[in-house]
Amino acid sequence: MAVSPARRAAAPPARSGPASRLARLGLRTDDDFALHLPLRYLDLTQVVPIGSARHGDDVQVEGVVRHQEVSSRGRRVLSADIEDDSGRIGLRLFNFYPSQIRQLAVGRVVRVHGGVRAGLFGLEMVHPTVRAGGGADLPERLTPVYPTTAGISQPSLRTAIAEALERVRWRDALSPAQREALGVMPIREAVGLLHHPRPDDSLAALEDRSHPAWRTVILDELLAQQVSLREARRRRSVLRAAPMTEPARARALIERLPFQLTGAQQRVWREIAADLARGEPMNRLLQGDVGSGKTVIAALAALQAVGSGFQVALMAPTEILAEQHHRKLRQWIDDPLARIAWLSGSMKPADKKAVREAVARGEVDLLIGTHALIQDSVVFPRLGLAIVDEQHRFGVAQRLALRGAQADSARPAHQLMMSATPIPRTLAMSYYADLDVSVIDEAPPGRKPVLTKLIDARRRDQVIEAIRAALGEGRQVYWVCPLIEESEALDLQTAIDTHALLAAELPEWPVGLVHGRLAPGEKAATMSAFAAGELRLLVATTVIEVGVDVPNASLMVIEHAERFGLSQLHQLRGRVGRGTADSVCVLLFRTPLSETARERLRIVFESSDGFEIARRDLLLRGPGELLGARQSGLAMLRHADLERDAELVEQARELATTLLRDDPAAALALTARWLAGRGDFVQA
Ligand code: ADP
Ligand code: MG
Repeated sequence: MAVSPARRAAAPPARSGPASRLARLGLRTDDDFALHLPLRYLDLTQVVPIGSARHGDDVQVEGVVRHQEVSSRGRRVLSADIEDDSGRIGLRLFNFYPSQIRQLAVGRVVRVHGGVRAGLFGLEMVHPTVRAGGGADLPERLTPVYPTTAGISQPSLRTAIAEALERVRWRDALSPAQREALGVMPIREAVGLLHHPRPDDSLAALEDRSHPAWRTVILDELLAQQVSLREARRRRSVLRAAPMTEPARARALIERLPFQLTGAQQRVWREIAADLARGEPMNRLLQGDVGSGKTVIAALAALQAVGSGFQVALMAPTEILAEQHHRKLRQWIDDPLARIAWLSGSMKPADKKAVREAVARGEVDLLIGTHALIQDSVVFPRLGLAIVDEQHRFGVAQRLALRGAQADSARPAHQLMMSATPIPRTLAMSYYADLDVSVIDEAPPGRKPVLTKLIDARRRDQVIEAIRAALGEGRQVYWVCPLIEESEALDLQTAIDTHALLAAELPEWPVGLVHGRLAPGEKAATMSAFAAGELRLLVATTVIEVGVDVPNASLMVIEHAERFGLSQLHQLRGRVGRGTADSVCVLLFRTPLSETARERLRIVFESSDGFEIARRDLLLRGPGELLGARQSGLAMLRHADLERDAELVEQARELATTLLRDDPAAALALTARWLAGRGDFVQA
């Protein structure tokens, strides 16, 4: 299949076909293709004598096929022996095409590249690349191997990239003197070298990225990022948002609440209220550990906006969570003048339409819902505030879409994002343009720490006894199974089986089941039955991961805990310990445990502090996933790594200032190179 870059920037990706697969790799423009750099290289510049190949080598050899055999006992295997003047070596192919049987017919000359290992009958190459041989030309340069995705072959990607590279005309952001001082190359030269190094370029330096060409590219990218952040900041500073100065409604809610706000809640509320009252669009991230009480802050912000005459949109990542917010906010905001509506994907089309129309007529003040808020192009005539709960679960583009839903684009809405997954401050500042951060660093009073127990799945009987005891005391219990979607592949016990088993083991108690494949209506019905105490034990997949609040649940069992991520385990555990009873979280695991699984379990066992867990998660996983940038399909940085390249981040900060001052045209060319079609992301 031939692929080629679009000549112009950023057409929306098609749903399938090569263009969409390329778009998933982030490849749309010539610049994107040219900046898609190799993971590693193959040395196909020479053919070595077969006799010189050793176990563990990666070599290219050429020889005559002397023997061929297709064994069809069990798995089909194509074996062949090839020979040159110096020796003989075996080839083994497990998945092969009929054409490869012909290609490896006895007497043919083939050129073969691959890894060598010592097999049962001497040296062999498993799954080598085989080409017709016989003195065909050898390339002069190393052959790049690119990051790719299913359906896009290396050769077609190589061709597309080589063509794009011919077409790009780039302007350097740095002067020759600056480049010399920093030890970097002209950008076009550096990128050309990385795609097609000469055999005498150090492979080691290329692969560990210490080569000056890599330094050049990484600095260029970081500089583009810094320049675009400055630009976004400048653009935002001239925007005028609606000031929301009417505090009466929020004050009334604070008085009505059945609890006192904690000191930390009061502080973050003051910060947010002050932002809302200013004429600049707020762009604030509210961080607070699971259960720290972020929802009430969202309710206060919503009331201040509504009280000042604006509409508010509140978006949550799951139907269960959105539904729960809807219930809770209706209960808190018992105010006929604040008209609250609900929108989700599972509603009947006619009902959705009615809600959208009411919003568009300005008859809804607070709209709560799921992705449906952005999918169904709801238009708000007076949107003043967009709130995104569990923001890391959304892609950047989705967050932007919510803020963009207001009719009057000259008056951007304030934006409040909430997350239980803290982002280290330096990282946040490098990823988001001038994002302000508020932190709730105190739990509501009376919370008892959750006792975490690690139990081998072979001791499951004891766990059932503990469940029986908790249920007998009037408590409720969660039993969490890993995702059904993954269970087929990973051979997990499905939630359905578990539910049947537990219902049989605990016949005296009503046991519910909720998982991702249920219709949303059934999901919501099961959750409210559990919240109301009609169901006493709830078997669930990770659909309950975020935000669910049932204070009477005091025991949680997580099955196959070794298969969950760290922040997932912490979020899940946060579902218990919300009431006054002593709570326990049982992590059931199966041996043998991998090194990382063991480490993850140790961390959740040792720490109950979400910030500490996130910090250690960051060390285990790297920043991309934590930020949720991944879910948008496009990581913000392609090659630079904020931690590894910290020294260059500093350089880029300083260089950005001089570049914007001295050569704005070069600054523009730089951001176009890296961010054309992605410019919006820096505003998220
Ligand atoms: P999260 O920060 O994880 O979203 P929630 O907003 O769901 O947490 O709050 C968790 C629980 O704590 C809810 O039942 C909420 O009503 C309650 N809560 C929030 N603030 C306080 C407070 N100051 N005192 C007592 N309970 C509180
Ligand atoms: Mg929450």
